[in-house]
Amino acid sequence: MNLLGDTSILTRPIPFSTEDVVACIARTGLLSFELQLSNAAHCDCATCEAGLTREVVLSLDEICDVIRQAKEIGARHCIVVDSGTSLNARLVNVLDELNRSSLDVELYAAGDAIDDTMAEQLAARDVAVSLVELDELSLARLTKRGIRRLAVQLYFRQISSLPAIWRRLRNSSVEPQLHIAHPKMYDEGDLTASQMSHVVTELIRIDRDEFRISWPVESPHAARSNMRHRYACRIASCGMVYASADLPIPMGSVRTETLRDILSLSEVLENIRDYRTKVKEPCRTCSQSVDCYGSRGAAYALTGDYLAGDPLCERAESAEIASLPVPIAGLVPHGRSIRMVDELVAVGERRAWTSYTVPADSQFVDEMGRLDETAYVEMIAQSFAASHGFHLSADERPLHRGLLIGIKDLTIVSQAVVGDRLRIGVHKVTRFGDFGVVDGTVHHEDGRLLAAGQIKVWRPSDEQAKAIIP
Ligand code: SF4
Repeated sequence: MNLLGDTSILTRPIPFSTEDVVACIARTGLLSFELQLSNAAHCDCATCEAGLTREVVLSLDEICDVIRQAKEIGARHCIVVDSGTSLNARLVNVLDELNRSSLDVELYAAGDAIDDTMAEQLAARDVAVSLVELDELSLARLTKRGIRRLAVQLYFRQISSLPAIWRRLRNSSVEPQLHIAHPKMYDEGDLTASQMSHVVTELIRIDRDEFRISWPVESPHAARSNMRHRYACRIASCGMVYASADLPIPMGSVRTETLRDILSLSEVLENIRDYRTKVKEPCRTCSQSVDCYGSRGAAYALTGDYLAGDPLCERAESAEIASLPVPIAGLVPHGRSIRMVDELVAVGERRAWTSYTVPADSQFVDEMGRLDETAYVEMIAQSFAASHGFHLSADERPLHRGLLIGIKDLTIVSQAVVGDRLRIGVHKVTRFGDFGVVDGTVHHEDGRLLAAGQIKVWRPSDEQAKAIIP
């Protein structure tokens, strides 16, 4: 799975003003995007790797169309990720399309994949080049070929030599880019939060005292987040759109939807962009939370929750951070006797999955141990309520209510009995103000579909709820 992208700590201000970023969030647009290219015929993104088939990569026409769409919704900057052992055969065509769209371009690539001819092509187009590994020979060669903006990506696994490498690169006018530690991406071993924070403190000092470079946020903890999700996204080589390289939740494919629609309908992006109220403790009330919302990728990898507090931050060491699956009690207002879901198992892009084991004492079970089929609707409704409640704070949860106001296209395929373990999936299809339409499925754990249907729900305001609920 190709996860390489901009997950580096911020050592220089982003090239957009605060007003640009605020306006970008308001229009659910972009200022920057990552475009993954692949020389392989088939994509290796998270969705393709998890699925039974790997999608064919985008054609050049499709890539050019995506670039035009990104430009239309405000993009000014593009990171082309082409990190294979050889560069994509269409790279120059892609760079030309990016140039025609007046986008500033950065290329993430391996140094030895860039031959001298390509280096000259990159220099002629003023492409910034970031090498995915330290490669001194390639750095010297690319400098000679006229590449003006050079960077090297560094990793915490190089921790003991990071200060020395940092100085060497700075002295050669090459920008060091240090990837934020991530438990599943960069092979960092068992480094502690305190070791990482210690070395970041030293890098901040080196930059300030030896190179007169001030980081935008001079806190080793707040360096856990570059906050790219506010203005950027990633497009994999098959056209699947993700919030970032380290957050492998598929938000939609440009092959079936426009980029504008994918971004504006994305709950993942909406929640992260509303980080001051949506990201959980300890990040939510942290004193650094103006400039930091933690690594969303690390939080997702360690807890299954892309809004969880960042468990790898030193400030989070004594915090209780919940990991999925979590018990449903507390997420839904239903008491134990009418609860038809046990655990919230996973959350995704407008999707959630729960589980339920049919208990013998359920009021929906008959004397033969068969579960009443009307229970399926309740499972779907409670799963939706649980996914909503999960993203609320502890203070908000007791206030949240939802009413089931309609059922459509309910199909019952088979019956469940006591002891069966069921998996319920919900997909929020549309939302109009306080009303929502949700598709739901109930599967037996052996894979059989038991029921499917669509429900309509209404989330009344506090005043409305008081008026209708005794
Ligand atoms: S607790 Fe969260 S918001 Fe605070 S510094 Fe750490 S990662 Fe950033």
